[in-house]
Amino acid sequence: MVDATRRPPSVDTILGMPAVAGIQDLFGRRLVKEAVRDVVRRHSTVDWTTGKGPALVETFCRRRMESGPRRVFNLTGTVLHTNLGRAPLSPAAIEAMMRVASGASALEYDLATGRRGNRAADVGHRLQRLTGAESALVVNNNAAAIMLLLNTLALRRQVPVSRGELVEIGGAFRMPAIMARAGARMVEVGTTNRTHLADYEEALGPGTGLLLKVHTSNYVIEGFTSAVEEAELARLARDHGVPFAVDLGSGALVDFSRWGLPREPVVAEVVAHGADLVTFSGDKLLGGPQAGIVVGRADLVGRMAANPMLRAMRPDKMTLAALDATLALYEDPDSLPRTLPGLSLLTRSAADIAREARDLESDLASALAPAFTAEVVPLESQIGSGAQPVTTLASAGFAIRPAASGRGSDRNLRELAAALRRLPRPVIGSLRGRTLFLDLRCLDDSDTFRAGLRELERP
Ligand SMILES: *Cc1c(COP(=O)(O)O)cnc(C)c1O
Repeated sequence: MVDATRRPPSVDTILGMPAVAGIQDLFGRRLVKEAVRDVVRRHSTVDWTTGKGPALVETFCRRRMESGPRRVFNLTGTVLHTNLGRAPLSPAAIEAMMRVASGASALEYDLATGRRGNRAADVGHRLQRLTGAESALVVNNNAAAIMLLLNTLALRRQVPVSRGELVEIGGAFRMPAIMARAGARMVEVGTTNRTHLADYEEALGPGTGLLLKVHTSNYVIEGFTSAVEEAELARLARDHGVPFAVDLGSGALVDFSRWGLPREPVVAEVVAHGADLVTFSGDKLLGGPQAGIVVGRADLVGRMAANPMLRAMRPDKMTLAALDATLALYEDPDSLPRTLPGLSLLTRSAADIAREARDLESDLASALAPAFTAEVVPLESQIGSGAQPVTTLASAGFAIRPAASGRGSDRNLRELAAALRRLPRPVIGSLRGRTLFLDLRCLDDSDTFRAGLRELERP
């Protein structure tokens, strides 16, 4: 006797089944045929007479028709996660992007004179007001801002930088490599843990193009340490007639410590300390789209704007619209924890997050039983994107472990993490040792999360 569930019917037979024919009306024969082949290959024993096989075919087709990066739940505990898109945008920024995306806009056009205008004029004025700087320039990201800065002000010239500040950000951004590609000659000064004003003084000479300070955003050097204050470096640079630039990394436009968050350097303060140029990202603490921002002295910003490289780094209309709308929120700083989603996430209380975890506990437990257990635990979130790498925010979430009596093993835990990533809206947790942690700080839609749990494949 032939076991019908063991030998799948031919692809053509399946395509002729009424349930599968209906899917072809939605997605076309070509895609459905590819889907059937895939399902037959991966699930040779699937039942085509019940809804199982057709459902897998439909899922395959839907996935293929989806475009762009998938929406996910970021339960990693890192709020501004670079691999997951960093800051969430405010509704105002999203609305602004849609407005310019769907038609013509006065992007680089002066409505008063009817002539060509400045691409980032509005954004520039806002940045000047918010930072106290004379001038501002926007490029695609902070890496581009630093590249443009070095190439404009220090081409074939020396740039002293402290050995304690030779950062690597996310693998591909390494200060020595960026310097070399920008055409600048890096001069290391001081030591890893201690750099003094005299070290910079010694390095300054007729070949110096620029003095650079890099905010050590994703690490801290602790113990017997010493670094030179910005104001002192600014004075030294001025005395030698060279510009002083600061790469702030995240850069905050307001002091976030007023909402109980760790203190990050505020751009306006660095400008007030005498920095000639300051660069920072648009999508880290600022809470806007990916962008690199340079503020500072008008003559230096003007030279950067005249560098032909700028054309290869200029932001598009949607970035400028979103950035302008984000900066507009800073005109009313008291409302920021409500209007800026990134800040709302960062200021969520651990008690609020724990309440949400307890609400979801039984749903999660029944989705995981009997192989795994889920326990509500206190957790520590990180800001991410190189802001305050060692300070954490009290949070809460789940610790998922193989059940002591069950068949859940460490390998199964990795499979469970993979199954969570296969959900309609993938859930990304963090696997540490023998525990899978889900930090609920950034859970922005608990209904969808709960619905997803019902579709979890039993590990
Ligand atoms: C994040 C960061 C960068 C790179 O910024 P992107 O916007 O990711 O290009 C450069 N320098 C520092 C100190 C940073 O923290």
